[in-house]
Amino acid sequence: MDEVKFCSYCGKLTSSTYSYCPWCGKSLENKSNISDVLNHSLDKIEKIQLEDRLLELEKLESCLDHLEEEIDAFLAKSST
Ligand SMILES: [Zn+2]
Repeated sequence: MDEVKFCSYCGKLTSSTYSYCPWCGKSLENKSNISDVLNHSLDKIEKIQLEDRLLELEKLESCLDHLEEEIDAFLAKSST
């Protein structure tokens, strides 16, 4: 099995036999700093989690809108 390493530019896993990253095309000659790669990957994960959060919030918001409508309808019903 080939040795693998992370591209320090895009953070993707590549074979150490490549001298260029097959994903982003950057040179893999420079030894990549593992903490840099980790930070890069963590940034991506954080971004994805943030997008998930935003989606959840949007869902929640439409739920609340719906709830508000129901409450309004209920109040309108009970006040008459
Ligand atoms: Zn790359």
